[in-house]
Amino acid sequence: MATLDEPLKKLTGPKTAKVLHDKLGLDTVGDLVRHYPRRYQRRGELTDLASLTEGDDVTVLAEVKTIDKRPMRSRRGNMLEVVVTDGHGQLSLMFFHKAAYFEKELWKGRRGLFAGKVSLYGRKRQLAHPEMQFFADDETGARRAADFADQIIPVYPSAQGLPSWQIAKAVGVVLDVVEIDDDPLPVELRARHRLASLREALTWIHRPEGWDQIGRAQSRLKWDEAFVLQVALAQRRLAAEALPAAPRPGRADGLLEAFDKQLPFDLTEGQREVGESLAEGLRATHPMHRLLQGDVGAGKTVVALRAMLQVVDSGGQAALLAPTEVLAQQHYRSITDLLGPMADGGRLGGADDATRVALLTGSQGAAARREALLEAASGQAGIVVGTHALLQEHVQFADLGLVVVDEQHRFGVEQRDALREKAGDRRPHVLVMTATPIPRTVAMTVYGDLDVAVLGQLPAGRSPIATHVVPAADKPHYLERAWERIREEVGKGHQAYVVCPRIGDGASGDGPAGGAPAGGRGAAAGSGGPGPGDLDDEVFDFGALDDGADGGDEARRPPLAVLDVAPMLADGPLAGLRTAVLHGRLHPDEKDRVMRAFAAGELDVLVATTVIEVGVDVPNASVMVVMDADRFGVSQLHQLRGRVGRGSVPGLCLLVTDAAEESKARERLAAVASTTDGFELSRIDLEQRREGDVLGASQSGRRSSLRLLTLLRDEDIIHEARGEATTLVADDPELDRHPGVAGALAEVLDEERADYLEKA
Ligand code: ADP
Ligand code: MG
Repeated sequence: MATLDEPLKKLTGPKTAKVLHDKLGLDTVGDLVRHYPRRYQRRGELTDLASLTEGDDVTVLAEVKTIDKRPMRSRRGNMLEVVVTDGHGQLSLMFFHKAAYFEKELWKGRRGLFAGKVSLYGRKRQLAHPEMQFFADDETGARRAADFADQIIPVYPSAQGLPSWQIAKAVGVVLDVVEIDDDPLPVELRARHRLASLREALTWIHRPEGWDQIGRAQSRLKWDEAFVLQVALAQRRLAAEALPAAPRPGRADGLLEAFDKQLPFDLTEGQREVGESLAEGLRATHPMHRLLQGDVGAGKTVVALRAMLQVVDSGGQAALLAPTEVLAQQHYRSITDLLGPMADGGRLGGADDATRVALLTGSQGAAARREALLEAASGQAGIVVGTHALLQEHVQFADLGLVVVDEQHRFGVEQRDALREKAGDRRPHVLVMTATPIPRTVAMTVYGDLDVAVLGQLPAGRSPIATHVVPAADKPHYLERAWERIREEVGKGHQAYVVCPRIGDGASGDGPAGGAPAGGRGAAAGSGGPGPGDLDDEVFDFGALDDGADGGDEARRPPLAVLDVAPMLADGPLAGLRTAVLHGRLHPDEKDRVMRAFAAGELDVLVATTVIEVGVDVPNASVMVVMDADRFGVSQLHQLRGRVGRGSVPGLCLLVTDAAEESKARERLAAVASTTDGFELSRIDLEQRREGDVLGASQSGRRSSLRLLTLLRDEDIIHEARGEATTLVADDPELDRHPGVAGALAEVLDEERADYLEKA
């Protein structure tokens, strides 16, 4: 008998164990039994000999017709060719060794089943060394023939030099002796959801006797994955709830009231509702952990700012963490604008109870930086806006009460935690905002420790965005038309974006070898690049490049670059318009200057990288042309397009691509063009990514613990498992009475090194 944590060596022998370790990273009995088949193959229906095609896996019922033994040409020994027939067609069975043995087995007139892969030799169809089973020529024989053909063969994710059948054999050895004492799913839970035991499930998934067993095994094993994950998250939630936090109730006649009075627009109903629930969360004596989802342009900033003001009114500070320098600067500007004299605390003309807003980024000058650090540490600044620079150790707050993380998809849990630590022994409240709508299942897993709030409706007066795909390769005049549209919009006093996937080096045509997607990193560092501690503004979406379906990855030209496209436009189709470039390699001051000029209407066209992807808010911009749009992910395009149509002018987004009409890339672009429903698009996006990416493995690079469970298709299981996990953890927080769950959890945590789950 062997336990799940027993090393494989003892059971499979050192040689097999070494191959399993080297090729697949499997070390223990548990690893191996959880290496599930990727798919299953029927041994082949009984096939009509006349209809065989090359490459088919078949099982045929036939009778031996002729036998021919002859010496082999290329090496010593005899080969055996046995022709079988089913009365219609015929097929050769080839034996290249043990000819003498098989000659004895296969006499003329003998009937049997022959299984294998059909190959073609000249015009002759044949099976080489088929599997065989012989039957008596009666009714029993016929029934056994049917059974044989029905057998299901598991096909394992294998590696070179480690064929699936060798894995199957090792699994077989282990399955016979493995002992499972503590089923991770408690028996009552299994009964409630009609789930098989782990023992049954493992047997069925590896050695199914029927397709129904595979289905039952899979749903049980998916439950394991969902349940263990949800238990971990439930524990995390419970632990967080137990921590003390300072309540930040705000006060009457404070900044928030004054702010509301001078707000130039009415809050939407959604903003009011979410605002109230945040206000309540901030009043609690335990930290609020809230995820605020709201589509592009839904008006999340105001909601966050109001929450921050409530904290400032309570004597605390709020930090706003932005993913890029451009966005941090923009937040800083729009918040100081919105606050007016209320942000001039201690200055001449400041309101009586005014506070200050500080900006902290990695690349600002030493003096500005010192001042910001001082304002944060002294508590003078009620609001501190910044990039990753905020996370650095020497950044201190007098009394950090609220952490707001904007555009969460660029930050991991670890970073969120790093900022949380800055509040000392009392935890700050946390508000995470994302414009990428997250499907419910992802919210329940990746963001499972946060409560979700949704800002559903867009503020009134928003204009629709029309999106079209421009197939530049097939129809060059469509692209000309795109440039014309820009000229027309500019003629009407509006502005335009042209987005390229790469920065480039300005030497047209010879970008970084292999078309390194993130130009900011791939190309030589220009002077005044982003300072240490700050992320490049371009965070390229590798998921988008991963479809490989467009063929010839290597043959693909490098993506178009800002520094090539901008001069091409300025000298050609957009000659005479005021254009400028914006990308992550510009000095931050230069970036800031360009953004200000564009916002002030001093520029007509901004040729940019995804640096403008999130948050950039210039209502007068009405058209966007995305070059090589197929190089971007679905959500990313949705984000980008959100930069136009923000004012009263209808927006137009043109997705330019060379991708072939029938390609996956074109499908993706058509999807983006077909809807502006961010939720729908995020589902499409999710479908096209591998699960690991979704679970943040792209951040950690680690193997996901999810093998069978898919976030998209298994919503029901995830939902039910969450309920069960919450109940179980409430009742037995340390899992003392549930050793099976504790064991499984330890295994997963070990594997994941607690990436998005808290280290135990
Ligand atoms: P996002 O949710 O994408 O971050 P923002 O907070 O940047 O959206 O808001 C987009 C724009 O809408 C901003 O210019 C903001 O001032 C404006 N806005 C926010 N709320 C309202 C509202 N209730 N009515 C009108 N405009 C609003
Ligand atoms: Mg925003």
